Amino acid sequence: MRYAQVVLDIPTRQLDGAFCYVIPDELALEVRVGATVLVSFSRRAAVGYVVEELDAPSDSVAGGKILPIERVLAESAFDEARARVALWMAKEYACPLSEAVRPFLAPGQGYRVRKVEESGSWELQSDSSGPVDERWVCLTEEGRTFEPRKTAARQRVLLSALAEGPVRMAELSVLISGAAGVVKALEARGVVAVEARRRVRGGEETTLSSARAARPERLTSGQREALHAISSACAAAQGDVVVVDGVTGSGKTEVYLQAIEETIAQGKGALVLVPEISLTAQTVGRFRSRFGDDVAILHSRLSTGERFDQWDLARRGEAHVVVGARSALFAPVRNLGLIVIDEEHEWTYKQESSPRYHARDVAARLASEAGCALVLGSATPSLESLSRCDRGVWRGATWTRVSMPERPGTAMLPRVRIVDMAQQFQQGNRSVFSKPLVEALQAVAERREKAVLLLNRRGFATFLMCRDCGCVPECPHCSTSLTYHERTHMLMCHTCGRSWPQRAFPDPTTSCPNCGSRYMAAFGVGTQRVEDELRMVLPEGVDIIRMDADTTRAKGAHQRLLEEFDASDCAVLVGTQMIAKGLDFPEVTLVGVVNADTTLKMPDFRAAERTYELLEQVAGRAGRGERAGEVIVQTYWAGHPAIQAVARHDRDLFLAAEEADRREGSYPPYSRLANVTVWGRDAASVRRLSEALGASVRGKVDGMAGWEVLGPSDCAKAKAKDNYRRHVLVKAPEDSNLGELLGTCARELGSHAGVNIAIDVDAYDLM
Ligand code: ADP
Ligand code: ZN
Ligand code: ZN
Repeated sequence: MRYAQVVLDIPTRQLDGAFCYVIPDELALEVRVGATVLVSFSRRAAVGYVVEELDAPSDSVAGGKILPIERVLAESAFDEARARVALWMAKEYACPLSEAVRPFLAPGQGYRVRKVEESGSWELQSDSSGPVDERWVCLTEEGRTFEPRKTAARQRVLLSALAEGPVRMAELSVLISGAAGVVKALEARGVVAVEARRRVRGGEETTLSSARAARPERLTSGQREALHAISSACAAAQGDVVVVDGVTGSGKTEVYLQAIEETIAQGKGALVLVPEISLTAQTVGRFRSRFGDDVAILHSRLSTGERFDQWDLARRGEAHVVVGARSALFAPVRNLGLIVIDEEHEWTYKQESSPRYHARDVAARLASEAGCALVLGSATPSLESLSRCDRGVWRGATWTRVSMPERPGTAMLPRVRIVDMAQQFQQGNRSVFSKPLVEALQAVAERREKAVLLLNRRGFATFLMCRDCGCVPECPHCSTSLTYHERTHMLMCHTCGRSWPQRAFPDPTTSCPNCGSRYMAAFGVGTQRVEDELRMVLPEGVDIIRMDADTTRAKGAHQRLLEEFDASDCAVLVGTQMIAKGLDFPEVTLVGVVNADTTLKMPDFRAAERTYELLEQVAGRAGRGERAGEVIVQTYWAGHPAIQAVARHDRDLFLAAEEADRREGSYPPYSRLANVTVWGRDAASVRRLSEALGASVRGKVDGMAGWEVLGPSDCAKAKAKDNYRRHVLVKAPEDSNLGELLGTCARELGSHAGVNIAIDVDAYDLM
């Protein structure tokens, strides 16, 4: 007799283990790790996922009767190594087991058990998109003139559905009850024909010239060194990590491509993660041009059906390479030999809803469970990755950093100029553009070249900034910028929860605490305003292309705007953060940053790191071709190490200051930091539960070295969608089991109607 450990799809922290079921003989072939099954639990039907097969019942049975698995609902979506990763995620990120398993399931193929209101019985539901049925139904020649009997209502509906062209069997089933029977009857009479066809959805084409990846004649020494390190990590087959620390344009993508070629040659598969925003036709095209149809693409702009098709290519072993955004990490690539995370510093790799994981850390775990290598590439590696490389070993794996400091060929790093906006303001310039930037833009127009203008708009918090000296009031206890709450006229530190009424500072709405200037204003300009001012300073005949949340809402709009920019002979691309990454247009000779400060002033210990990354990345868009590039950064804080480091192409300048700050404040990467948020509609219950939570965590970590509990305090977003939000921040030593401890606290507090606890281990968003 065989047994299976099954994770039940009941999302509660109270069920913290898998349950043991018997595999009946008739299902022996179908029940596999990764399969979705129907079982009975507490006298009701439940959907579950097999995470382990056993020869003997597990301890979880505790003497009771072991029930059988009743049905297999969906074939295996993940293997043993991935099942172990899911179980680890549940502990690491303190989330219900079923939520840790979900990311591994086939897109759009979920099953749920629902209570039927009228009868009180349980029924099985599948997601509306359903499994992809590859059978298509179409009208035959005779079918076009066929007249069904008056009483054959379902035949009529079916025929009118087919009048427009072939329809998938699965869609007909949604449209008409008993569609299969109707189709069968009509097929017997020669009215319709059923054909199986494989139409793989989700493969996009592009016209971008830069989307081809011609194999370079020779690699740079940095590229060779990186490939060598990756080969060794692959050969070690134990989850070793190689950080490819290469300046923008140093040819990291070529390194990935060749490492993947080697992986495929060994009969293995590869996973490549790129940030959602740079998952453009440009990136996709480079992989397609090297690997053709051996690549499956996964991102959020695909429909569920498209995602399933691409996912299934990997599961069936028809595509050895999967390129995708964060969640592609869970794709069922067979015989995984290599995982690549490009732009590993990007915070889109952090998932902000349960399971709140970081793709970098899950990838490291997957690499060691699957026995493959992990490559992390970036021009600005995260402090986390750098410190792991410094230590050499992290969580049992070897971390190696390879640096690629040069661009191949003649391409040079651009010259970076810092413009002090306070000075500009004092000289009477009220425009969003400084004099040097206007002149540089006009020169680009004259030379008929291209420019990129970045408007930094990350962070929601309102803070006040002095336009004379750039000062933003800070918390004296935390050195994070105070956010200004208009409703209460309070300046607040959301790290420690302290707040000050406006009288504690000179009136914050009118004058500066630093220089007394009366020009204090909530800071922020929009892309529209930048576009308008741009039209005023540029001559006719320069295309201005604006890329922001508004202009890219429609499907394919992002892509179309880039193609427009590519096709133009002289243009300025204006946009938010989304333009900073991954674009490779050789004709761009000028990059302007309108406001470098907004990220710097975010109330977040990673503010400086984010600013540095953003500036370095956007600067990297300039001078990728023959012609030299120039970067102009407008800022109120010209002396900040993050700004200076970009100006001088000297990362150590930034790192030295930043690492010292983090060490002193005991922030990651020198500690772990969790953000536990309590939210709900009733302020009093939220307050009570957050107090209980704070007390519970304090009770557990009291006297333990390296642990620190901050709060509870109101979140920076103290109220969102009518929910009150309070949080507790927990700092813990680097090697601690932070998630397990917090999961235990949450379980012990039990569930409270109308109040929720969200545990975010290794949190990025602290608001
Ligand atoms: P990164 O990913 O590091 O920003 P890319 O991979 O986009 O850099 O490479 C920048 C440009 O250099 C691309 O156009 C690429 O085709 C080219 N390139 C890469 N490696 C080489 C090489 N060894 N010789 C010549 N050109 C190269
Ligand atoms: Zn504070
Ligand atoms: Zn001032």
